[in-house]
Amino acid sequence: MSTLYIIATPIGNLGDFSPRAREVLSQVAAVACEDTRTSGFLLHHFEIKKPLFSFHSHNEHKRVNALTDLLDGGSDVALISDAGMPAISDPGFLAVRAAHQLGHTVSVIPGPCAATTALAASGLPSDRFCFEGFLPQKKGRKTRVELLTDETRTMIFFESPYRIVKLLKELSAVFGEDRQACFGRELTKKFEEIRRATLAELIVSLEERPSIKGEFVLVVAGKDYTE
Ligand code: SAM
Repeated sequence: MSTLYIIATPIGNLGDFSPRAREVLSQVAAVACEDTRTSGFLLHHFEIKKPLFSFHSHNEHKRVNALTDLLDGGSDVALISDAGMPAISDPGFLAVRAAHQLGHTVSVIPGPCAATTALAASGLPSDRFCFEGFLPQKKGRKTRVELLTDETRTMIFFESPYRIVKLLKELSAVFGEDRQACFGRELTKKFEEIRRATLAELIVSLEERPSIKGEFVLVVAGKDYTE
């Protein structure tokens, strides 16, 4: 029986890479990663030399067998993504399921995750929340938003800088423009920004900028929330 390690990596600040994550990465036989170049830089920075093999959303169905072959052969394997916690809007679920099914051990080295980082920063209720991740870009997007009409939990969305205003407007149309929300932009990075306001105010704040850059997480209060 071998071990599949799911290892969180920094979402911007390399100082967030835990000593335990680095130690485990130094011990495994191989590292499955989304982009061998991105992860190569990370491992090089921490002077970790390991064989890397690609495991991303377009090949994970095929690559899962290569990963389990290694586990079956007695090698411990680590799975990392480009940033943050694998399996959270990132590859991971298929590999973890296969490892469980084949009787291997699964061990997670927790760490940065953009979703929970933004939630913790939002000052919105965090006792119950739902993670919506990325909405579909076209087909099914409207339906997904409408399904949230009566959602009372705090909601977490990932969105690109190109569509963040569009998302805010779509949510405003369904939830009302006075719904409290908070975006985390460039979390843990030099130009980190955490802005909490109503959906209408967030739209204005972004629309008045000459350009919208960086990575965004949007956290939105549930129905019935008042302060
Ligand atoms: N698995 C990752 C995690 O646990 O954070 C998330 C991967 S998902 C493919 C990437 C999205 O996460 C980005 O498009 C953005 O919405 C969000 N994200 C990642 N890093 C971020 C950061 N430093 N600041 C704000 N949002 C971030």
